[in-house]
Amino acid sequence: MQALMMDMPLLVSNLLRHAARHFPDVEIVSRRVEGDLHRYTYKDCHARAARLADALTRRGVHVGDRIATLAWNGYRHMEIYYAVAGMGGVIHTVNPRLHPEQIAWIVNHANDQYLSFDLTFLPIVEAIAALCPNVRGWIAMCDRDRLPASAKVPNLLCYEDVLAEGDDRYVWPELDERSACGLCYTSGTTGNPKGALYSHRSTTLHAYAAALPDAMGCSARDSILPVVPMFHVNAWGLPYIAPLTGAKLVFPGPALDGKSIYELLESERVTYSAGVPTVWQGLLAYVASNGLKFSTFRRTVIGGSACPPAMIRTFQDQYDVEVIHAWGMTELSPLGTLSRLQNKHLDLPEADRQKVLEKQGHVIYGIDMKIVGDARNDLPWDGKTYGDLLVRGPWVVKEYFKGEGGDPLEYDGEGRGWFPTGDVATIDADGYMQITDRSKDVIKSGGEWISSIDLENLAVAHPAVAQAAVIGIAHPKWDERPLLVVVKKPGAEVTKDELIRFYDGKIAKWWTPDDVQFVEAIPLGATGKILKTKLRETFKDYRLPGV
Ligand code: AMP
Repeated sequence: MQALMMDMPLLVSNLLRHAARHFPDVEIVSRRVEGDLHRYTYKDCHARAARLADALTRRGVHVGDRIATLAWNGYRHMEIYYAVAGMGGVIHTVNPRLHPEQIAWIVNHANDQYLSFDLTFLPIVEAIAALCPNVRGWIAMCDRDRLPASAKVPNLLCYEDVLAEGDDRYVWPELDERSACGLCYTSGTTGNPKGALYSHRSTTLHAYAAALPDAMGCSARDSILPVVPMFHVNAWGLPYIAPLTGAKLVFPGPALDGKSIYELLESERVTYSAGVPTVWQGLLAYVASNGLKFSTFRRTVIGGSACPPAMIRTFQDQYDVEVIHAWGMTELSPLGTLSRLQNKHLDLPEADRQKVLEKQGHVIYGIDMKIVGDARNDLPWDGKTYGDLLVRGPWVVKEYFKGEGGDPLEYDGEGRGWFPTGDVATIDADGYMQITDRSKDVIKSGGEWISSIDLENLAVAHPAVAQAAVIGIAHPKWDERPLLVVVKKPGAEVTKDELIRFYDGKIAKWWTPDDVQFVEAIPLGATGKILKTKLRETFKDYRLPGV
């Protein structure tokens, strides 16, 4: 054996053990389903996670077994994350916003042994229990005195009772870092959902890279409030990144409305947050209508779908909150790129710096990317040419859980596998990527492409527009033409012609939507993104003017 460095596996349990040893009194604060605030420390969290891991082991949960959750962001969810992964199991976070039948399908596909749930989701559990015969126990994440009586759920257990079966002197096993620790299903656009299975190694490396200053840039001086749910790609890694850096964690539980988030940001001196654009609309509307400011909140990561430039500016100019625009996917654990400035940008005029920050950004070390054309040839990084975005890296999926869908990778001349993201993007000479669209959402007009994201971003900059979505509508001459679908702000008035004129001079004339339709609401998917499939369904019989 060569005299090398210590060979210590990169294990998820080490992240929490590190926090418990080196940041023992740093707090984890959670708003509970009951409405009250719960607070304890990393040391407490570690002890309870160890106890739970021991309890699950005693209950016969084995290395590799899947344990599901249907839960909000909270301390018990955090304990399950670490107990399950730490003992060698696989934490399978299920998105409660999916249809119960789809949830049952996922639970059965994953062959989950136990499912832990917040009381909010009891109706889902009641609807699926009979459909999921392999689940050995349904664990209600509550105190004993709150355990509901439900005839429809066999083997209903109380979380605190299960925990009490274990011993907190449990010693975390030294697992293979390449073994599985987490499972997330991605809402497949075609066919059934597919699972991305994370390893201890991929999760740890992702957390290291994500914490870097030019990535998410988290530190022990931060108080982090993940608005992004722990069931949406592990809250973008924050439950791992916070213990790694020693940051305080503030979990919002089920209360994601503007008022509740604002109160928590203020009372817990939150400096840092993360979420999809739609959740920030609620917060910004609340602070604007009440004339409020943030005392400590300084940075937020926004991603999951394109962050409208108008939102970046509002946060920065009116509230002194820096927006970090990020791109990622379930298959990437999720982080791929983030937009932060480099030295060369610092002397640029403000408008040009802003343009950089509006992009989806630069890769973090570990991820490589490229754009390719129809013949899979590499396309130039000129900020204009767009093509299919491919990525590779140690936290990018190699194959879906159980091999579903076959080999998803595309191989280059050197035999290296690249994951096709399904996104269409440009990359500029400095390596900043900008998403044009999902390849299925891009509007094909007269053999050219129109970016629905660009048209949406411009529409939401209009003061009367609350939400906007653009879809392609069949056109006999041009193939497809854009239709703008708009939700107006409460009490605001705007006409179709005003909105169409609003595009003048901001885009190529032929990109201008052919028509505008006003609606009460735009359908959102399970992770808060605009559900274009549903919108296309709604407008399937719609004809453009003059067609
Ligand atoms: P999911 O796996 O559900 O998180 O979805 C991943 C997809 O969300 C990506 O492939 C993109 O299409 C989209 N997405 C994520 N972040 C962004 C962003 N900042 N801008 C535009 N699209 C994004």
